[in-house]
Amino acid sequence: MTVFEHAGKLLVVDCGVLFPEEHQPGIDVILPDFTSIRHRLGDIVGIVLTHGHEDHIGGVPYLLKERPDIPVIGSELTLAFITSKLKEHRITPKAVHVEAGDTHRAGPFECEFVAVNHSIPDSLAVAIRTDAGLVLHTGDFRMDQFPLDDRITDLRHFARLGDEGVDLFLTDSTNAEVPGFTTSEQELTPAINQVFATAPKRIIVSSFASHVHRIQQVLDAAHAHGRKVAFVGRSMVKNMGIARDLGYLKIPRGLVVDFKKLQSMPDAKVTLVCTGSQGEPLAALSRMANETHQIQLNAGDTVLMASSLIPGNENAIYGIINKLTDLGVKVVHKGNAKVHVSGHASAGELVYCYNIVKPTHVLPVHGESKHLHANAELAVRTGVDPENVLIGRDGTVIDLVDGRARISGQVEAGLVYVDGHTVGKVTEETLVERRLLQEGGVVTVVAIVDADTNALAEPLEFLAKGFVHDEHVFDGAADKVKNALARPATSKVADLEKLESIIAETVSRHLERAYRRAPLVTVVVVDA
Ligand SMILES: [Zn+2]
Ligand SMILES: [Zn+2]
Repeated sequence: MTVFEHAGKLLVVDCGVLFPEEHQPGIDVILPDFTSIRHRLGDIVGIVLTHGHEDHIGGVPYLLKERPDIPVIGSELTLAFITSKLKEHRITPKAVHVEAGDTHRAGPFECEFVAVNHSIPDSLAVAIRTDAGLVLHTGDFRMDQFPLDDRITDLRHFARLGDEGVDLFLTDSTNAEVPGFTTSEQELTPAINQVFATAPKRIIVSSFASHVHRIQQVLDAAHAHGRKVAFVGRSMVKNMGIARDLGYLKIPRGLVVDFKKLQSMPDAKVTLVCTGSQGEPLAALSRMANETHQIQLNAGDTVLMASSLIPGNENAIYGIINKLTDLGVKVVHKGNAKVHVSGHASAGELVYCYNIVKPTHVLPVHGESKHLHANAELAVRTGVDPENVLIGRDGTVIDLVDGRARISGQVEAGLVYVDGHTVGKVTEETLVERRLLQEGGVVTVVAIVDADTNALAEPLEFLAKGFVHDEHVFDGAADKVKNALARPATSKVADLEKLESIIAETVSRHLERAYRRAPLVTVVVVDA
C-alpha cells in the first residue's frame, strides 16, 4: 500500500495482503497497518488498484470496512475481481472504471493510466500529477513483447511522461537481481503441449486462480489434444467465470464441462485445472496429494504445476511433489520443464525503462531489501544521481516539493495479523508464544499457596502437553520453587501475579537446565 498526500487529501495506491511464513503459525493473512491514515479516512479521495493480484487488492475489504464509500479506481478485470471479493464481505464498492490512456481526477490528484503487461490481464501503471510534481508508479509489470492478448507495456506512453518530466519513478523491484529480459509467456507453449501430447491418463494443472493467460494456454493445449477441462476449487471456478464472462478467457465451445461430467469420461480425455500451486494446505492440489480430496490421483496421472515457486513456500511445494510421486503421479514443474515465466521485469527491462523515462528521482518498490538495492543500482547505472535514488521501508515518508524528493520521516507501519475472525488482535507477543508451543510444548503448573506465608499449601501439580512424557521430568522443580518462594525478598509478597512469575521462571530454568528445552510455562496460583 502506498499513500500519496497533497493539499490535505490522500490517494491510496494498492492495498494488498502478505501471506504468512513458517514463523507466523496460524495466521491467515497479513494486512497493511492503517494506523497512520485511520484518523484521516475522510480525506481519502480514492484507492487506485494497479491490478487484481492478492498482494495488491487483498487488503481493500478491510480498509472499506472502515469507510465503505471510498472510490475504488481500476481496470475492468481488476474491478471485477475486487467486487467479487468484496461481495463475500457484504460490501458493494463505489467502483470507478478506468482504462489505459484514461485520465481521472481524484481530488487534487490527476491520475493517468498506462497499459502494462503482467501475469494477470488488464494491469495498469499510474501517473499521478499534482502541483508538487509528476509521479509514475509502474505497479507490477514486465515487457513481454508477444503477450497472448497483444497488450504490451506501453513504452511510448512511458516515454511521453518522461518527456513531460517524471519527478519520482516507483518501479517494481521483484526481478531486479535477474539479468536480461523476462521471456515471453508464449515460450511455455512447447512444454505445455509436450505434457498434453504424452500424458497417458488424466492431467491435473495447478496455477494461480488469477493467471488467466497461463490457463488460456492450458485450455488451448487441451482443446488441441481432444481433452475436456473442468475447473476445481472455489477461487478457480469463480475467477475463471469472471474472466470468461468479460472476454479475457476464450473458451472453445464444449471444452469446459462440469467436474461431475468429467468423472464418467476416459482418463485420457480429462484435464482438471485447480488451485494450490503454492502448496497451500487447504487448496485442491494439497488435498489431492494428501488423499483428502474427492478426486483421487492414481499412477499414470500427470500433475502440471504451471506456476512460480514463491520463496518461503518451497518446503510445502516439495512436500506435495514427493507425495504425488509416491502415488505414482508424474509431476511436471518449473524445476524439470519450462512451464513458468515470471510476471515481473528483469534487470534489462528495468534499465530500458529508466533510459526511456529518464526520471529525476527513483523509489524502488515491491521487493525485499536486496531487490530494492539491486533495483537502485540499476537506476544509478543509467545515470540517475545516487542521491536521488531513495530506499524506503514500510512507513517511510517521502516529501516531493518542487520536483525534489527526500525521505522526511517515518510513520507507524507494522504487520497486522488476520487470525480467524480477528484482525490485529494477534500480536508479535502471541506469535512468540505460538512458536514456543510449536518448539517445546506447554507446561502448566498449578500452585496452591498460603497467601500469608507464601508457602505451598499442597504439592505442585504439573500438566504437560507436547513436552517430554517422563514421570520424573518435574522431579527437583518442586524443591526449587519452594526455595524460591522462601527467599526473604519474595516473602509476604501476597501478589498472585508476582508469585506466578517467580514460579514460571524457576520451572523454566529447571527444564532448560535438565532438558535443554524451553516450553511455554504457564502458572495458576490459587490462594489456599
Ligand atoms: Zn502482481
Ligand atoms: Zn505484486
